[in-house]
Amino acid sequence: MASEVVEMHLKLLFDLDNLLSDMDEPHYKEIGFKIEDEEKLSLSRARQDLLGKLPPEIAGIYERLRKRYQKAIAPVDNGFCFGCFQQLPTELLTRIKEINTCPNCGRILYWRRK
Ligand SMILES: [Zn+2]
Repeated sequence: MASEVVEMHLKLLFDLDNLLSDMDEPHYKEIGFKIEDEEKLSLSRARQDLLGKLPPEIAGIYERLRKRYQKAIAPVDNGFCFGCFQQLPTELLTRIKEINTCPNCGRILYWRRK
């Protein structure tokens, strides 16, 4: 599978997970959002679906990281990992066509497309 496709799926999964965890926040309900169980269930299904589309090793890394950090993906900006705010080795920055993890915090790196 091309890494752009994997990255796209990862990004979608990431957004979905953020949405799902937002729904569990009490203030989310306080500000008037009414979340139907059905809606949450369909999001969980979409999540499983996306996870199934990823190569198993990437899906495994993602799930492990999510348990550890909540946010498994960190954007890269100006050569910095935005998960741990450490500068990434230049050698890594030349491999943006591949799926990479941060050598410091281990998060999956996401390159923002300009
Ligand atoms: Zn990092």
